[in-house]
Amino acid sequence: MNSKQQTVRLSDGHFIPVLGFGTYAPQGVPKAKVTEATKIAIDTGFRHIDSASMYQNEEEVGLAIRSKIAEGTVKREDIFYTTKLWCTFHRPELVQLCLEQSLKKLQLDYVDLYLIHFPVSLKPGENYLPTDENGQYIFDTVDLCAIWKAMEKCKDAGLTKSVGVSNFNRRQLEMILNMSGLKHKPVCNQVECHPYLNQRKLLDFCKSKDIVMVAYSALGSQRENIGIVQNNPILLDDPVLDSLAKKYKRTPALIALRYQLQRGIVVLAKSFTEKRIRENMQVFDFQLSLEDMKVIDGLNKNVRYISFTKFKGQPEFPFSAEY
Ligand code: NAP
Repeated sequence: MNSKQQTVRLSDGHFIPVLGFGTYAPQGVPKAKVTEATKIAIDTGFRHIDSASMYQNEEEVGLAIRSKIAEGTVKREDIFYTTKLWCTFHRPELVQLCLEQSLKKLQLDYVDLYLIHFPVSLKPGENYLPTDENGQYIFDTVDLCAIWKAMEKCKDAGLTKSVGVSNFNRRQLEMILNMSGLKHKPVCNQVECHPYLNQRKLLDFCKSKDIVMVAYSALGSQRENIGIVQNNPILLDDPVLDSLAKKYKRTPALIALRYQLQRGIVVLAKSFTEKRIRENMQVFDFQLSLEDMKVIDGLNKNVRYISFTKFKGQPEFPFSAEY
């Protein structure tokens, strides 16, 4: 079965493929790798590609998409492409500029989804992570509702089909949903989600508001990522996932991905290794029993791999709230 046939409807009427290809790679990974991996992902059947201006790889990802279009493997409308507004563009007048810069790098006319990447603001400027002389990030004030209004304008201008958020907690979602003059609801909230951080309460809230949850780091993220909390247990070494993998004759990674799909979550998987890119597509070939879903629910331990700790203490830092 091909992932392009499996989509969920967003609240604005567009459809998002339930399996997405993650493109973030830690510093040190040659940028050309993302082009190669994205091409393999498209050949394998991935139709949803997740990137962000912050990843600084949109030239390379765009190259892969355009070459697969040129070659006739896919049409532009077959691909669902997500980009994100970075924290140094958190001023209403910079929101469309960030998207235009992404489109220029991608050499595409529109994206499918534009997300507010993270609800904390950094000082605008060339540098994605501006720091002072002591190496501390330089923050800026943030008005999430004003930013959201500018996001809505990007949709109205046709530069993105849909708009959403990432790393928002319940209060922040409610703030957008309740803002005066709201024109377009966020269609999704992209958050870290896996068996060790299953986001049950946030998921229930999102479902109640017709907001799709998109899971990142669904495989426990990348150990090479310097931002990762290194002393956390390794998800894919979990003995329960391992025994379920044996039972279903799959792998722990596939069990972790399948778990999300059966909860109604759109799931991202990053791999730059052909064998694993192909393996991840097998998520459509089997089903977990309800009992085993409950067993995986039992693994939750609020382990967050991507904690954005350097943003802690900021007024809109999202992870201090319970959910
Ligand atoms: P992830 O998808 O949880 O895990 C990727 C790691 O798992 C890679 O090191 C990969 O290695 C390995 N892997 C992939 N498939 C595997 C398999 N079948 N078996 C064993 N290992 C496997 O990592 P992530 O990059 O943190 O998250 C995915 C995507 O979510 C990102 O790339 C990005 O697009 C997005 N994201 C968004 C945010 C946000 O703030 N919105 C934050 C983090 C991530 P190889 O590459 O060597 O195969």
